[in-house]
Amino acid sequence: MRKPFVAGNWKMNTDSISSVELVREITQGCRGLAGERVDVAVYPPFVYLAPAVKSMGSGNISVGGQDLYFEQKGAFTGEISAAMLKDIGCVRVLCGHSERRHVIGEGDELINKKVIAAINGGLLPTLCIGELLEQRQAGQTEEVVRRHLNKGLEGLCDERVLAVTIAYEPVWAIGTGLTATPQQAQEVHAFIRGLLGELYNDDVAAELRIQYGGSVKPANAAELMVQADVDGLLVGGASLKAADFIAIIEASAG
Ligand code: PEP
Repeated sequence: MRKPFVAGNWKMNTDSISSVELVREITQGCRGLAGERVDVAVYPPFVYLAPAVKSMGSGNISVGGQDLYFEQKGAFTGEISAAMLKDIGCVRVLCGHSERRHVIGEGDELINKKVIAAINGGLLPTLCIGELLEQRQAGQTEEVVRRHLNKGLEGLCDERVLAVTIAYEPVWAIGTGLTATPQQAQEVHAFIRGLLGELYNDDVAAELRIQYGGSVKPANAAELMVQADVDGLLVGGASLKAADFIAIIEASAG
């Protein structure tokens, strides 16, 4: 039985005051649910991570980085390592978010190195995958998702891959207000689970959680979450409002 996992990607938003307030409100608002009926995580900008971890108190949510660099340390100006994230209390990290792929220009090989570095550094990575609008229109969704998954997980054995969460985020649905229908999401999630079975085995495929991301709101969270292969949600815009994010967490807990 896969426990629902809801995460908020704050992207380049909030400031030193609002980030701490947001963590406090979320922590208080999902007491009794977070960690018990649903796993909850937030990904604030790097500079607000340490205060976010502190302001969480005894709350059962986890904090993670939006990205990391694959090297352990050294002359990599501007980069942040897995050890640094771990050092300040982060548990998780996003790898290959579509904005890293399509705005910053990260490729599958770099993303794979980041996934491996995260696991080596004791973090739980979320590998984000998903097709562009033109790829969906050209009937290439499965091909793109297969490539992102194969390359992103390259070199990970059965045991180590269990640290990974997959986030299926169709790029055309991110920040656009266009959500995939529950049926569209389920179709791709089932395809991903099948691929995990091919790459690993049925046990791994049954255990790994696959989140959906792309314009998730309180109004559509429940209908996405009832799909058999949708195990959680990766939420951007709606995770910046505590009330909305809490409503999504509640809807995901069933
Ligand atoms: C995201 O940032 O991963 C995301 C899905 O954003 P939004 O919910 O705003 O579409």
